[in-house]
Amino acid sequence: MGSVQIQCTRCKNVFRDRAARLQDGYSRQCPSCEVVLFFAEDSQHPFVRRAMRNARKARKELREAEAMRRAAPESRMARSFAGRTQSAERED
Ligand SMILES: [Zn+2]
Repeated sequence: MGSVQIQCTRCKNVFRDRAARLQDGYSRQCPSCEVVLFFAEDSQHPFVRRAMRNARKARKELREAEAMRRAAPESRMARSFAGRTQSAERED
């Protein structure tokens, strides 16, 4: 999770990049043929569109996982125990 597959529009090589970086206006070189791929929301290329769609989905899943972690009482407790003993102070 956090990275998405990108297929090169020229050599068809498949590689991965961070979902967080794969946003409108992003560009990167294919590690295989070194062509520069441009990622735009309005791209006409199906490979680019698919990569951006996957990146958007991965970012959404990351956000949701993060929100879930924040909302979970167990992990909040574990974090405060690891740092200061906030929950113990609250109980007093
Ligand atoms: Zn390539």
